[in-house]
Amino acid sequence: MIIVLKPEATEREIDHIVDRLRELGLKPHISKGEERTIIGVIGDDRILQNQPLAVLPGVESVTPILAPWKLVSREFKKEQTIVDVSGVKVGGRKLAIMAGPCAVEKLELTVSIAHEVKAGGGSILRGGAYKPRTSPYAFQGLGREGLDFLVEAKKQTGLPVVSEILDPRDIELFLEKADIIQIGARNMQNFELLKEVGAYDKPVLLKRGLAATIKEFLLSAEYILSRGNRNVMLCERGIRTFETQYRNTLDLAAVPTLKELSHLPVIVDPSHATGKWTLVAPMAKAAVAAGADGLLIEVHSNPECALCDGEESIKPTKFKELMLDLKKIAEAVGREL
Ligand code: PEP
Ligand code: MN
Repeated sequence: MIIVLKPEATEREIDHIVDRLRELGLKPHISKGEERTIIGVIGDDRILQNQPLAVLPGVESVTPILAPWKLVSREFKKEQTIVDVSGVKVGGRKLAIMAGPCAVEKLELTVSIAHEVKAGGGSILRGGAYKPRTSPYAFQGLGREGLDFLVEAKKQTGLPVVSEILDPRDIELFLEKADIIQIGARNMQNFELLKEVGAYDKPVLLKRGLAATIKEFLLSAEYILSRGNRNVMLCERGIRTFETQYRNTLDLAAVPTLKELSHLPVIVDPSHATGKWTLVAPMAKAAVAAGADGLLIEVHSNPECALCDGEESIKPTKFKELMLDLKKIAEAVGREL
């Protein structure tokens, strides 16, 4: 439910409304806009329907939020959310380019790829320290040491870092070492993990599950926001379909759809969405044209020897070329790189 307050509503009136909502066992979320204050109320629909909240002093209107995801919806918040990632803004006019290796490998390699990403125009370094691999015999990532390598790469380049968390018990480690905590596709509905990252204000990159609908995706984001963390970015990374020619099918319509339904920034990952390096550039361009707020791209200086996902990783020279092409597309759709 959205309670829109009158422009002249006083602080005392707002406090009174908030107290009343809390007495009813409801959770008010206040957003102070330039002209008006709006209170989003999340709670048991039965309580909401039976309370004549419209009569409280200072209230102009009371409207139900129809979407099953509440805090995440455009109904709740009209203005686009801009997530501040250690100074890099995600969701504004400027596109956020997150790039780097699938997995963090050696320190020197991580640092050199970070320099290449920066030189190419990337704004955030990606790298998995904990890898969710299909086979238990595949490289599982360097763990804590991998996060330390990312911290070192950040120190040398100034690029904030994004890395995937697999276990809620590692939360302190990620709060300390990562600028964005990634929740991978396989954990999109790991509700305990969602609740854990929701308890802090650290930016979260939530990836769409392998076979998740838009509704399930947004409800997973709602788990995080409902715990208090508003710094969430959604990432479309391809879904499983009957097509076997590529690893996944990039659901490009998800980009404008998510932007219509939600105020959260939308990032596209053309690497996991296709699984083929030759498809990364065309899909990255299409994603920007479709209105994505940023990209997550796997870049490796020697893809043939990469310990994970070499087949979908592009070399730094290709990354640089792609960025130049993306600049033109960004300008054509009113964005910048
Ligand atoms: C990743 O980005 O490293 C990753 C594992 O992607 P996804 O969760 O989308 O498969
Ligand atoms: Mn990968």
